[in-house]
Amino acid sequence: MVSRIALMVTMSSVVMLASSAAAAAAELRAGAAKVDITHPDGPVSGPLFSKALIISNGDTTVALVCLDVVSIGEIGYIKDDFLPKLRARIESELHIPPQHVIVNASHCHGIPCDDALDRTFQAVKAASEKLVPVRVGMGDSHEDRVSENRRLKLKSGREADVRHAYSLPPDEEVAEAGPIDPQIGLLRLDALDGRTVAVVYNFAVHPIQGMPDSGNTSDMTGFASQVIEDNLDDGAIAVFFQGCGGDINPLYYKDVSHPRSAEVLGNILGLSTLKGLNAIKTTPDDRLVILNDTIALPREDLAPKIVEIEAEQLRLARSLGGTSLNLKTFLELAGKYGEAPQFPSYYSHLYLHEQALGRNDTSMLDTKNRANMQAYIENVNTMEELTRVNTNLALLKMHHAQNVAAASRTIDVEVCGLRIGEFVLVTFPGELTVRIGLGIKQRSPHPKTFVAGYTNGYIYYCPTVEQLANRGHAQEDSDCILAEEWQEQFETHVEGLLKRL
Ligand SMILES: [Zn+2]
Repeated sequence: MVSRIALMVTMSSVVMLASSAAAAAAELRAGAAKVDITHPDGPVSGPLFSKALIISNGDTTVALVCLDVVSIGEIGYIKDDFLPKLRARIESELHIPPQHVIVNASHCHGIPCDDALDRTFQAVKAASEKLVPVRVGMGDSHEDRVSENRRLKLKSGREADVRHAYSLPPDEEVAEAGPIDPQIGLLRLDALDGRTVAVVYNFAVHPIQGMPDSGNTSDMTGFASQVIEDNLDDGAIAVFFQGCGGDINPLYYKDVSHPRSAEVLGNILGLSTLKGLNAIKTTPDDRLVILNDTIALPREDLAPKIVEIEAEQLRLARSLGGTSLNLKTFLELAGKYGEAPQFPSYYSHLYLHEQALGRNDTSMLDTKNRANMQAYIENVNTMEELTRVNTNLALLKMHHAQNVAAASRTIDVEVCGLRIGEFVLVTFPGELTVRIGLGIKQRSPHPKTFVAGYTNGYIYYCPTVEQLANRGHAQEDSDCILAEEWQEQFETHVEGLLKRL
């Protein structure tokens, strides 16, 4: 009898536990808001925003913040004190701990207003005042028509990259283009009446396409967010988290025949994001975990590489030989020899006439001209290679000076792991190249894991060990302060972080 009572008590406790778990499962709450941070001067072609999403399950509260800026500190308009000041204010006024505040830069190259810090806090505050119970859903979508890998594998074994800062290598030297990550990572938070409160989407691409009028712009991800918000419930906020876009450019980034428009690419990205969002079913789920670790990554001694690249620079400069042609005569010949390769110098009958008389004066002129044109082209190719070497050497020197001036041979960075229901996100401050993100996704123990670079600080480009073997010849490997060991240290840490989520 006693044991039956004990059993009943135990059973009722189980029922009570189950019902309290059910109540807790409905208790995830979220609120979102956005504030315009566009600089007031000059034409605007797509406003810049600070967006905030606050999520809480009662025990844990997390603030996800996204700014349409190039970086959180170090370069650009957002200064190094932005993140600590924002976090301090959020902690003192909203009581969210600093390590629970995750701030991502979309990496667009637009210009924010001078009071972006205060406005960003206002977005966070407004979001915190709008918390409502939510259901959670996650998923992904696919978009492979708006981006391309900007690192080109050359037949020489080296790599070059696609920038406006310098010329591309000749087409015949290019052996292979690298991968993109077409996956759009998605989180959707719906109020209990079914209305969407906010979505988070994660995609890897440099939002640097620009607009035909060169106006200040949040670029393609700004347009994508606008398309998403226009098609969600009123007041729903689309929060973009930039992915591992370090070596990913917008498609047609070097187009000189058509005005480049971020709006076109952004609309495509936005519609593909919506397609995925519409397929998501939200459910009650109160799992909310934030892990915020600081790891120390090694700085590279760039001095030997600078010596090597300076020698290369000198070798290239000395290899430039004299040519008979100058730009004017080269262009004249290039037109003729391109248009009529068989009879470039005159009408065909002159060639036939000379042939009938046993002469080949005009053909011999063509042979000389072709040799002179080839010599001129080789000089141009060398000059173009020098523009790449000069630009990347300047990056190496800048980072060498930074590493020498640094107090430590390592740099501390924040690596965060975030779980919201089934949605798992890893964040990192640097410009991670796409293979880093693809690798983390592939090895993760979670069904779908997403990765955001450009978060909680900025430490320049973070390419793979293989890409760093090319140091001095492309931006991602030259615009980097880290030693190659960084990759293994980071990836090992992320492996442990993902297990703890
Ligand atoms: Zn970049």
